[in-house]
Amino acid sequence: MTCYSAVIVGGGAAGLTAAVFLARELKNAGSVLLLEKQPRVGKKLLATGNGTCNISNIHAAPARYHGAPELAKAVLSQFSPEDTLAFFETLGLECTTRPDGKCYPVSEQASAVLDCLRLELSARGVEERCDTAVLGIKKGKDGFLLSTSTGEVKAKTVLLAPGGAAAPSLGGSSDGYALLTDLGHTRTPLFPSIVQLRTDTTFVRSMKGIRVDARISVKTDREVKAETGEILFTDYGISGPAAMQVSRVAADWERQKREDCVAILDLFPEREEQELFTLLKRRTSLPGRTCENFLTGFLNKRVGQTLLRSIGKSPNAPVTDLTDRDLKQLAGQMKNWVFPVTGTNGFGGAQVTAGGIRANEVEPTTLQSRLVPGLFLAGEVLDVDGDCGGFNLQFAFSGAAVAAKGMLSLLKGRQV
Ligand SMILES: Cc1cc2nc3c(=O)[nH]c(=O)nc-3n(C[C@H](O)[C@H](O)[C@H](O)COP(=O)(O)OP(=O)(O)OC[C@H]3O[C@@H](n4cnc5c(N)ncnc54)[C@H](O)[C@@H]3O)c2cc1C
Repeated sequence: MTCYSAVIVGGGAAGLTAAVFLARELKNAGSVLLLEKQPRVGKKLLATGNGTCNISNIHAAPARYHGAPELAKAVLSQFSPEDTLAFFETLGLECTTRPDGKCYPVSEQASAVLDCLRLELSARGVEERCDTAVLGIKKGKDGFLLSTSTGEVKAKTVLLAPGGAAAPSLGGSSDGYALLTDLGHTRTPLFPSIVQLRTDTTFVRSMKGIRVDARISVKTDREVKAETGEILFTDYGISGPAAMQVSRVAADWERQKREDCVAILDLFPEREEQELFTLLKRRTSLPGRTCENFLTGFLNKRVGQTLLRSIGKSPNAPVTDLTDRDLKQLAGQMKNWVFPVTGTNGFGGAQVTAGGIRANEVEPTTLQSRLVPGLFLAGEVLDVDGDCGGFNLQFAFSGAAVAAKGMLSLLKGRQV
């Protein structure tokens, strides 16, 4: 049986990138094998950024990472967003950085990212074996024996890059954690992040499909996280980039089955409540208005109607019925509209997994397992999750570069 120098488990962002680094150095054809359980590699990569792939973020700093931010710091300090963009340039992929720091391929096609990785892998003779799920890994005296759904594989070094549990329709699963716990590793609790919020539906339902710019805060008895940006009302709750960005707090709360969690919307983050009151007061002199269209021209019509309903005003009531007390309540609601959170859309709707293999079980300089020498880990399987905005792919690419370097120095020490 062939013994590969490096076997990579998982043909996702981290696995494909590591394969390029390994194949560039291990020049003997057939020394790198990539195993992927799905019919094709890179399925999740193709879905990133709604198909445009937010490949990195030049503001990737430890504060944008959770779980084990110290591991993110160690990994990113060895391979930065700038290194990532330079690496992809060597693959022929041109990227552009937007004013907010988010980086995208200039073609705005996630498929271009995958194509460029695969073209290089094919040119360098990396063997790609799809429809092959790794079921178990054993460490022997001379290396590793992997049992897979298509037979056994021998390897001198192994990179486990199987991703996390998020987005099962794109290959997300708990496989990687199971493979690693069988080898003695442990993990922190898993929960979804960058996920839609489920809320009480009394008011959101009537605003379904409407996008607004707002400040959203998710608040529990222990934590509060806020973000300003686009939110989307849905029939089950609140989605959109800003809601997804603060969802980690709600998902962690949901996991712990604690008491209250609320999402609070500030529809006018730039304005004071008193200013809104004055403005509303002025609007009461507009001719021919009822509560149904009192806010028309100031707010999205359906949002305005729902706001008035939320303070108990019937649509047909004349505007003259609105007292100063009502207007104050309305201005307050515009700044502090509270939606009780009932949960999240779970791993099925999530972009990333929070939690994972404990950071203290890997060497931060190489991502080699401290328990199983010769085994390396990269990507979402580790206990690091980033904010929405290119941070998660960046961690996957950085981890791939660091682990590949560690594998190469181990292999070179063994004179492969
Ligand atoms: C819809 C969506 C949009 C996203 N958009 C962005 C974005 O724009 N920017 C960003 O930074 N992040 C984004 N993310 C997050 C990002 O895609 C992931 O964090 C990243 O892909 C993780 O890389 P990975 O290599 O660790 O795992 P993955 O890319 O998930 O790859 C793991 C691979 O391993 C395979 N595998 C698993 N178990 C086995 C096994 N036992 N045997 C063989 N193969 C196995 C899986 O099938 C999969 O192909 C998005 C995620 C989703 C779901």
